[in-house]
Amino acid sequence: MKPKIIYIAGDGRSGSTLLDSILSNIEGSVSVGECHRFWVRFYEKETLCGCGEKIERCTLWSKIDEKLHQKFPDYDSEFIREKVKEIQYFKNFKKIPKLLQTKEWQDFAEIVIYFYNQIAKTSQRNIIIDSSKSIGWCYFLQNIGVFDLRIIHLERNLASVANSWKKKMLLPEYYDKDVFMPQKTNMVILKSWIKIKVLALALKKNNYFMFLKYESLCQRPEFWLAKIKEFVGEPFDITEFIMIPTHSIGGNPMRSGSNKKIVISNKKVDLHHLNFFEKIFFKSSNVIAKTIIK
Ligand SMILES: [Zn+2]
Repeated sequence: MKPKIIYIAGDGRSGSTLLDSILSNIEGSVSVGECHRFWVRFYEKETLCGCGEKIERCTLWSKIDEKLHQKFPDYDSEFIREKVKEIQYFKNFKKIPKLLQTKEWQDFAEIVIYFYNQIAKTSQRNIIIDSSKSIGWCYFLQNIGVFDLRIIHLERNLASVANSWKKKMLLPEYYDKDVFMPQKTNMVILKSWIKIKVLALALKKNNYFMFLKYESLCQRPEFWLAKIKEFVGEPFDITEFIMIPTHSIGGNPMRSGSNKKIVISNKKVDLHHLNFFEKIFFKSSNVIAKTIIK
């Protein structure tokens, strides 16, 4: 049976951690976080996996590395890393279907297919919760067309996203040094948010596509959780969620596996990292974008 990939697509700082933690409660699933970062994180050996183990020693990822070497004798992780990077550039998005007609990219796709199949096989879970978020990577998987791919495009209000990008945040998965999430300028925040909104229109052509507003999920959790349940097509209890152990790449190893109850809070975001003009700028851009991009 081909693996089912439940893919969370969208901008950073859009609430994907919450959605990922909820989906991790689906029986028979494995949450792998931003697994497209495997080719960076595994080989740089500086971070913890969601299971709390150093990523290069994690039972899942070390096995997958071993399998990749066995299956592809010429396996070159740096070459793959470059390819993954290329796919994510917004400027390459439209070229993806064409690239996949070339031998070079077909060879690469073969490795990616094997990679996901091995996640399912090694973890013995056929449902992969992938919160890579990258819109390009998602489109690539969609074009490969061999998985049962269920895309949830998660979007958060632009002003809240911007407010979050302005916060100085430490990446919790680095254990030996302080690495902060990048802080973006106003124009970069606006441009990426809009590009993701526009490019996601192409993802709609997928057999299974769902648009989810983060704010709606927080305001009416029962309603949206029932929709999500129907969309993923898996039986799971939508009344209570806990922090399940994961093999998340780029997640917070302190939180996953803590078994703490997940609370969906409808607290209003006070945009205190934005100044007066930024608030007006992002709020009005959000309104304009919503009217134009449909
Ligand atoms: Zn792990």
